[in-house]
Amino acid sequence: QAKQSGKGCYTVLTPQMQSQALERIELETDIRQAIEQEQFCLYYQPIFSIQDKKVVGFEALSRWLHPQHGFISPTKFITIAEEIGLIQILDTWALQSACQQLKIWQEQFNVALTVNVNFSATELQQPGVVEKIIQICGQSGLSLSSVKLEITESGFLQTASAGTNVLKQIRSQGIKLCIDDFGTGYSSLSRLHIFPIDTLKIDRSFISGLGSSSDTTAIVQTIISLAHNLDMDVVAEGIETNEQLEKLKDLGCEFGQGFFFSKPLSSQQVTQLLSNYLSLSTLKI
Ligand code: C2E
Ligand code: MG
Ligand code: MG
Ligand code: MG
Repeated sequence: QAKQSGKGCYTVLTPQMQSQALERIELETDIRQAIEQEQFCLYYQPIFSIQDKKVVGFEALSRWLHPQHGFISPTKFITIAEEIGLIQILDTWALQSACQQLKIWQEQFNVALTVNVNFSATELQQPGVVEKIIQICGQSGLSLSSVKLEITESGFLQTASAGTNVLKQIRSQGIKLCIDDFGTGYSSLSRLHIFPIDTLKIDRSFISGLGSSSDTTAIVQTIISLAHNLDMDVVAEGIETNEQLEKLKDLGCEFGQGFFFSKPLSSQQVTQLLSNYLSLSTLKI
């Protein structure tokens, strides 16, 4: 459909564009209510030590069960929440629930697990964000060193020097910082050392080419030695095959997560997983 909008200009809105725009407006309205109505929940993907396949912690991943549209992927709603300024509410909620849940598991099973929570870089620019993070983690009763915040590589690049200060303050309290989706953000490698980072997570797009592409293997090898030289440990994201796992072991990568080990699990499934093992030393998949 073409609509004449004066002076000979036409705006073209296909039916598909119309329905996309409508869907978008609807989602914006719905996100505002979804947290209060508890339509969001967290799934937890195990993170493993690659050498011995022991679980060391979990990454908390948000899930939205929409009353009409069913399951909506975070890749869709996180971007919208960022654009309409609601990501603070969502990330704060995720941090709080993940910390409370980890505390429950630590006490119930007497294990020293850690939890990774994704955090949008736009939120780091909010005044009082350091105090807020410390307060939320502290209130849960967790030791702050069992909490890891994941910020994407492009997120780190967005944070100017003020942002780097915020990150340093967070880290000085014991909370760990991870650079997420590394390799996708086009950061110059020479700038990596200015950020206070404990862990580098290699993006899934590189892991999928491991073994089959010698170029990709060389890149992954380079990323791992770079991280180690900068005193960071490494998590490989999206491990799907045993071949990829073996290659990562050869390359000296410490940690991994991916469907080969386990998909993200509901909190009930994690409780089940943990209760199947008597002690962390046997907690393997
Ligand atoms: P991410 O932080 O890089 O999380 C990893 C994503 O890869 C997750 O997608 C996970 O389910 C998926 N994944 C893990 N292993 C495999 C594998 O072996 N193969 C494949 N194909 N995929 C795998 P998910 O849960 O859809 O989350 C997508 C992104 O949404 C996350 O990427 C993260 O950036 C963002 N996100 C999720 N929850 C939150 C949140 O609470 N706050 C913020 N700010 N972002 C979040
Ligand atoms: Mg992540
Ligand atoms: Mg990632
Ligand atoms: Mg990602």
